[in-house]
Amino acid sequence: MDGEDGKQAPSPGGGHGPSQGGGHESKRVSSQGGGHVPSLQVEFVVSSGKPDLFPRDRLPEVAFLGRSNVGKSSLLNALTGQKRLAFTSNTPGRTQTINFYRIDGAFYFVDLPGYGYARVPLPIVAEWKILIEHYLEKRETLKLSCLILDTRRGWMDKDLDLKRWLEHHGRPYLVVATKTDKLNRTDQERGLLAIRKEGVEPLPFSAVTGRGAREIWQAITRTLNPQ
Ligand code: GDP
Repeated sequence: MDGEDGKQAPSPGGGHGPSQGGGHESKRVSSQGGGHVPSLQVEFVVSSGKPDLFPRDRLPEVAFLGRSNVGKSSLLNALTGQKRLAFTSNTPGRTQTINFYRIDGAFYFVDLPGYGYARVPLPIVAEWKILIEHYLEKRETLKLSCLILDTRRGWMDKDLDLKRWLEHHGRPYLVVATKTDKLNRTDQERGLLAIRKEGVEPLPFSAVTGRGAREIWQAITRTLNPQ
């Protein structure tokens, strides 16, 4: 069931995170997240549902994908050393947008809208599919997608659809298994094993302890700077 973590949907225009259609803010952030995160400059560049408004500077992009409430915003915050709410979850059911953040002026983190939220009406689901598939299929600068799973739940149907879709289109991806801190050691192993059954090696992560941030950064860096 979605929402069991007690997440509150952000209020419209709540003042956190990017606003629709443009805007530009830049901030230098310092290292947090268990000491694994370097000091990064994070610039919010644009939030848009229209490909014409996506950045054109051709910097490489790393996209983040997952079901609503999976922990995507928490992962982005942890990786960039941001305080909570610098990246915020999209309100389920609202018009969906893709958010672009330029990292150290060198590449983008691309925050794709969460999927699979139970109460989202069908037209929004259709809109999501068009937007996301267009981005994933056409975006030449996309170098890596991070498919985020909740370790407690493993693969859900929509995650598997997306995995197959990425593979079919030859898009490189890595799987992040988040919220590991919510499980004891045995259940963590069980959860990771279930994820491995689909033929991928997940990177275990916890936004609470910072576990896995270093390994995820290593995977991203390897992709962005191939030897
Ligand atoms: P999003 O909708 O995918 O962006 O998910 P959020 O990052 O907003 O996280 C959803 C809920 O899960 C929030 O209540 C978070 O505090 C919680 N959460 C996210 N990641 C973790 C984690 O690694 N450990 C724990 N214990 N809670 C987490």
